Amino acid sequence: MNDAPLYPGATLGVLGGGQLGAMFAAAALRMGYRVAVWDPDSDAPAHRVAGLSFTKSFSDAIAAQEFTRSVSAVTLEWENVPAALCEQLAERHPVRPSGAVLRVIQDRIEQKQFLQARGFPVPSFRIVEAPHRLADAVNELGGSVICKTATSGYDGKGQWTIRHPAETAGVEAALGAMVPRGARWIVESRVNFERELSVLVVRGQDGDQRVYPVVENRHEGGILRLSTAPARIAGVVSEQARDLAMRAVRALNGVGVFCVELFHTRTGALLINEIAPRPHNSGHYTLDACSVSQFEQQVRALCGLPLGEVRLLSAAAMVNVIGQDLEAVTSSQGCRDLLATPGAVLHLYGKRVARPGRKMGHVTFLADQAEQAEARASLFEKSLRS
Ligand code: AMP
Repeated sequence: MNDAPLYPGATLGVLGGGQLGAMFAAAALRMGYRVAVWDPDSDAPAHRVAGLSFTKSFSDAIAAQEFTRSVSAVTLEWENVPAALCEQLAERHPVRPSGAVLRVIQDRIEQKQFLQARGFPVPSFRIVEAPHRLADAVNELGGSVICKTATSGYDGKGQWTIRHPAETAGVEAALGAMVPRGARWIVESRVNFERELSVLVVRGQDGDQRVYPVVENRHEGGILRLSTAPARIAGVVSEQARDLAMRAVRALNGVGVFCVELFHTRTGALLINEIAPRPHNSGHYTLDACSVSQFEQQVRALCGLPLGEVRLLSAAAMVNVIGQDLEAVTSSQGCRDLLATPGAVLHLYGKRVARPGRKMGHVTFLADQAEQAEARASLFEKSLRS
């Protein structure tokens, strides 16, 4: 496998063609690369910016050969692409992050055990191998818990909150009815957090690391709604969070862009919720507010080039445009009001169908202070609800 740096003019492959793939492709194109996008959904946003599009299933051997011939390096925009495909592609090209990293991250149980075994703080958890074992796990943990499918869950999908043991039977039935044989679940204590934080870490092949300012996040129904950068936390907490995130990515031996999601508890502790091995929704603000965005960093790390500066040029708050929010943003008055707001930057992903819970775009509000950016973001968010 040729590991030499790749310079503009080379063709970069990305597995997955959602908005993250599209924003990666846009950054790569701007820097003079060509991009091949592989996503079985021919309507996926990144196909619109791709120089080459692959739409066969990820298990199609001929498509894999063609893709291999077309690209010089491969990255991904979604952790649930087949790790085996990444390993196969890695026989010929750099694949960053690697299939080995994906194998740890794709399964919530593997990921939690990996982190716990290395001394990283995570919420208390139990593994559930069959639906009828759920009650034991809930009782052992005590208190309010969240049950999550070990694989394939995202944006709050495949998660059940159990606040009282009496709710266990209903969730047990749901597990039995909904998921295939051999599925596993993880049950976690529900963390009484003060706030949710995330930290973007970029790591190069040579181990060089860059870490962005800590971001504060608010979720609704398991989906990210609002991110504010920088987080309004004490400097010492911010340093602890950044240090924790950098150590976790180093432990994974990850190369590329990683987002470490954290809970900051009411007692002041930091716990790792999960790690995404790719640019993250909470890092979209870097497109408009930082000297080098998370997507450009993904290009740099993939190509074995010097990593970019992570300097915050402006405070920012980002609001996701989810499902039917799109109507408000594209209506004549809503669009005019938004664009008349100082510091507002609109990003829409070009998805044709606005299903509930689907991320259709985001808006970043730039301002001198995080409070001001967040105030504008909150006003916008309220306008979506009215
Ligand atoms: P996840 O898919 O695991 O990132 O979960 C989505 C969201 O659900 C998180 O960002 C939290 O808002 C919430 N959540 C997940 N796990 C926990 C937990 N153990 N305690 C409290 N809230 C959680």
